[in-house]
Amino acid sequence: MPGVEFFGAEEQKEVNDVMQTGILFRYNHDQQRQGIWKAREFEAEVCRFTGAKYAHAVSSGSTAVATALAAAGVGAGDEVIVPPFTYVASVEAVLFVGGIPVFAEIDETLCLSAEGIRKALTPKTKAILMVHMCGGMADMDGIMQIVKEKNLVLVEDAGQAYGASYKGTKVGLFGKTGCYSFDFFKIATAGEGGVLVTNDEQAYKHADSYSDHGHDHVGNNRGMEQHPIIGFNYRISELHAAVGVAQARRVPEVIRLNRKNKTLFASLLSDIPGVSFSKLADPEGDSATFLNILLPDTDSAKEVVRLMNEKGIAGFNYWYINMYHFINQWDHIKTLKSAAKLPIHLLGQSQDYTKLDLPKSQEVIGRLISFVVRCTWKEEEVRELATRVRSCIEEALTKVHA
Ligand SMILES: *Cc1c(COP(=O)(O)O)cnc(C)c1O
Repeated sequence: MPGVEFFGAEEQKEVNDVMQTGILFRYNHDQQRQGIWKAREFEAEVCRFTGAKYAHAVSSGSTAVATALAAAGVGAGDEVIVPPFTYVASVEAVLFVGGIPVFAEIDETLCLSAEGIRKALTPKTKAILMVHMCGGMADMDGIMQIVKEKNLVLVEDAGQAYGASYKGTKVGLFGKTGCYSFDFFKIATAGEGGVLVTNDEQAYKHADSYSDHGHDHVGNNRGMEQHPIIGFNYRISELHAAVGVAQARRVPEVIRLNRKNKTLFASLLSDIPGVSFSKLADPEGDSATFLNILLPDTDSAKEVVRLMNEKGIAGFNYWYINMYHFINQWDHIKTLKSAAKLPIHLLGQSQDYTKLDLPKSQEVIGRLISFVVRCTWKEEEVRELATRVRSCIEEALTKVHA
């Protein structure tokens, strides 16, 4: 959790700027705010760092995904290919904009694969919601080929991959729209917040209006603004944006430290027979927030997890059964339980979510144990942790494969 590992005077200074004027609203009040525009600064920093032409900050990564879908023109009745391994917000966002999620296979990149996407295509497929998982990136060449070939809309949920890139382009910028989360658990945090990015002016304008009741934000009199489209309130506050901008500026240094620690951690485990790591489609573009260890099979992974828990080793995620990021834990999604009717209840599903057949995804996530890489680790700490993890892996592999 690098974001919260570095927290100090810079964040306080940005917040204090806002507190001094008392203007917590991101728009208008031009006189009283004395030139303090934190949401704008946050967006400018994201543009500068990612190379995006436009960025728009909103209240969360989740509302950023919904905004990214809507701004890309994905809505009611549109089939959207989604992965079964993601933070559940990606799937919720598709449902809330009225789309029909269609689950496809991931592979060892931990992201949707070109092969998985091809198998899930139907004549009704409108879009792919590409989620870049665990700080890494999808294998974009193959995916872009399908997008072009089938004329699909690509939207990227890079919620946990701010700073990751593929062949020199930041993830989030391959699609019509993309987005990042700045919640409390990401590489940089705003407390709560998300940022949408795009190189498409029309998509940016729609995102800007969609996330603020349709306002066009032209002029400095909010009451007299035009409303080109229907929107809602997904605004970020100036206080959150203030924290976000200070944190976003730290990301290059966080990535540098993450990479150093991850490389050492991985090198201390890589010679164990049967152990491998998730595939980085572009190793140079890793944000290195996780070390993703792949065991030979689910039984060995479960045994490693049991041993690590027994020995008090912390800081890892076993998504297959323990975490809220894999479809096996999403009974409410599979049965479409909701407080009130959703568009999908009227439009119908394209897949029976209780009978999905995703053997590759089950196999990969069953074998996966992800360690959160801390950028503040000292070398001795990495060495000690690796030694302890190594002994659990060796003990588990001897036992399971005896
Ligand atoms: C964290 C995350 C989100 C949601 O972000 P919030 O800011 O928590 O709403 C969406 N998608 C992915 C892939 C995430 O990791």
